[in-house]
Amino acid sequence: MGTATVASEQPNPEPSAVVHDGQAVIGADQELRQRIRAVPLESRVRLLTGATPWALHALPELNIGTMIVSDGPIGVRGVDEELTSSAQLPNPSALAATWSPRLAAELGALVAREAQRKNIDVVLAPVVNLQRTPVGGRHFECLSEDPLLTTAIASPYVAAMQRGGVGACIKHFVGNESETDRTSYIARIDERTVREVYLAPFETLVREGVWSVMAAYNRVDDGAETNLATEHTHLLTDVLKGEWGFDGVVVSDWLATRSTVESANAGLDLVMPGPGGPWEQNLLDAVRDGRVSEDVIDEKVERMLRLAERVGAIGRGASIPPGVDLPRGDVDPDTPVSDETRALLRDAVARSMVVLRNDGVLPLDPTASQRIALIGPNAVDPFVQGGGSAFVHAPYESRPVDALRAAFPNAEVSLSRGGSARAHAPGIDPSLVETPDGEPGYELTLLDSASSPLNDPVVVPGDEAWNRHVDDRARSALVRARVRLTAGTHRIDLGTCGAHSIRFNGQRVSQSEHLAGSEVILNSSANNPDGPARMFSSDGPFTVSIEARLQVVDADGYGTFVRFALRHEPDALTLDQEIADAVAAAENSDVAVVIVGTNEETESEGWDRENIDLPGRQDDLVRAVAATGTPTVVVVNAGAPVVLPWIDEVSAVLWWWLPGQEGGNGLADALAGRTEPAGRLPWTLPARLEDCPVPHAVPHDGSVDYVEGVHVGYRGWLAGDAAPAREFGFGLGYGAWRYLDVREVAAADGNVHLEVDIENVGQRESTETVQVYIEDATGDPSRPLRWLGGFAQTQLATGESATVEVVLPRRAFEIWDVENSTWLRPAVPYRIRAGRSSADLPLGLMLASSHDPTQR
Ligand code: BGC
Repeated sequence: MGTATVASEQPNPEPSAVVHDGQAVIGADQELRQRIRAVPLESRVRLLTGATPWALHALPELNIGTMIVSDGPIGVRGVDEELTSSAQLPNPSALAATWSPRLAAELGALVAREAQRKNIDVVLAPVVNLQRTPVGGRHFECLSEDPLLTTAIASPYVAAMQRGGVGACIKHFVGNESETDRTSYIARIDERTVREVYLAPFETLVREGVWSVMAAYNRVDDGAETNLATEHTHLLTDVLKGEWGFDGVVVSDWLATRSTVESANAGLDLVMPGPGGPWEQNLLDAVRDGRVSEDVIDEKVERMLRLAERVGAIGRGASIPPGVDLPRGDVDPDTPVSDETRALLRDAVARSMVVLRNDGVLPLDPTASQRIALIGPNAVDPFVQGGGSAFVHAPYESRPVDALRAAFPNAEVSLSRGGSARAHAPGIDPSLVETPDGEPGYELTLLDSASSPLNDPVVVPGDEAWNRHVDDRARSALVRARVRLTAGTHRIDLGTCGAHSIRFNGQRVSQSEHLAGSEVILNSSANNPDGPARMFSSDGPFTVSIEARLQVVDADGYGTFVRFALRHEPDALTLDQEIADAVAAAENSDVAVVIVGTNEETESEGWDRENIDLPGRQDDLVRAVAATGTPTVVVVNAGAPVVLPWIDEVSAVLWWWLPGQEGGNGLADALAGRTEPAGRLPWTLPARLEDCPVPHAVPHDGSVDYVEGVHVGYRGWLAGDAAPAREFGFGLGYGAWRYLDVREVAAADGNVHLEVDIENVGQRESTETVQVYIEDATGDPSRPLRWLGGFAQTQLATGESATVEVVLPRRAFEIWDVENSTWLRPAVPYRIRAGRSSADLPLGLMLASSHDPTQR
């Protein structure tokens, strides 16, 4: 014993100094208000709606230049989204699984560099909604099911972004925990729960000085008011801006604003996207006829001015052409592929991985000459990022098979798919597509409302599935193509959005009169469009002709497009055959690494999942491989929980997340033990969906009722009878630890300071995440049985021991007193428990009475 004390990685409970000058800039500056008032009203109002989907208007009268915003949570897409690539991070829950605020700060700094490279002022991230139900479509985009862990990771991430001069926009404020009917449901959350759980991350980040907040699509009943989040006076004005002193900009989620007067008066500052929407001229009229006061407008303009000052947009001018990524300042144009970025992302992938089971097979010996059977649909085609607005174009994708071959140079690595887990065929190889005249690509003709051609046919590359920003007058498009196929059986499927008539080989295979609009973007069906699928076969080479009349979708602020997603599965083997091939590969190998998981048909913004099973026959695949007797390591490539019914029947299970561009290398490092997969679950892994405290996300009569109250995530599991497959905080890493002692140390800052002694009793250097949970010893049923109060991390050599300091912030003991609208700390005895997860807590103590009521 007696090694150095390790500092806690707690979020700073006091407001941090990194971000802004707080009160000094809020209101009250008469001279500034006069300057704002001197600007023509038209210009002031114009500033409050976007100029384009991503750019804001400049306001030369106040020297405000054009500011540009961009998604999002796994990297900075930029505004010319199809042209330049972006560093692609692991999904946010992976980041939370590291339980490392230090790594979060490093990734936040990378996001800031990326934003500068792409000339972005505000990045629409992070998502600090909580994972209330495993079926939630944006689960992968959230950090965690726990408010303290979410805050502990988001806080340094945001601070690092803003230190780099780039605004964070925390989202979605608030109650946006499900996707079904997301623009209409009412999230009904009782006042204590909203304060103690769902507002908690927002509150800390606002008090620490975040520069913008995004108002959600949904309605919220927070016990004080029921309204759209964009019109919620209590939440936006009373709580966010009043009580918490938020001095930044409240921006609407894209197309979320439905009113002029109500939203403007409630505290919304900026309507996105633009141009168009309910403000602009309507808001000008409302000011002129007195329904919205000029003070309300000026207060918003002041906030926009403050944002411009913070991001360095003062004096920049209005000349940046929206739609073009121009690097800002001195930034490395090769950031996404630089050695530094590669190393950081590779490390993040490996460290975020969670070891859920290990019978000793891992790590694999990187020097051994052995046969490794790499198997699985996600081994062949990994799912590296979830669907929806978080999407970025990665510069490259590190593939598992290449990475394993590099990491195990003496091994023979075979690759078999073991069957597809997708409903749709993969995107077509463009070299197979030609026009009726034999030119490479397909032919597209735009038609007006009278079905008259607006142009001569243009030839489009065969894999161009979105035809965006078409002529304003176009209402539909005629597409003609031929697909050249070799002898055998092929599946052709074609996805589109909206009204259509589609013929394969002259025969009509699908028709619809249903006109689509922006809802196909909001529910993300445009990303995975449905359509007809047919099998074709021949003994010799042949072609299939396609003729389609397709709707031009006008998706409001998201622009227009014609969706023509041509997909093709060549000469597919049957699933049984592919599984048999994979089994044969495993039989001939020393170890099988089976990568199973979800895919873009499963996890996305815009919809919730109906179940949490692995898609396709992946469970059969795992069982068949394990039945060979070859040691079987299963790697799970998913963001949100999936049921793993065989979890305790295979040699090892590792959660790989949606790993981003460095996925393969990070995985290989973890398997080879080059980097310890030191992740701990930031959510609970269910054994069965029906055991989950909240197993569905579907609104009932238009409401999503948060009836579980404060018992969200593991807190709900603790209150019920069922045991999960693996609990919140679980993760074996490659180490073994002994917990020796926990002590309280005196401190006068209102927080509880603890020292926890631990010893590395394993065979390797390892990282431990010491987790401390709080219990109200009276068992008050209105509080969780146990909740996370703090954590800290340390890395120790084998045989080494250390004292780890963990700080439990004062707020962790407080409850929201509904009657008096204030925080209060119940004067009850608290039991503190320390250990490796929410269920493995070998140490405990009762807090000294000096920490009892501080009676606030
Ligand atoms: C999403 C936001 C996103 C915005 C812009 C919305 O549909 O909910 O998270 O930032 O689109 O892409």
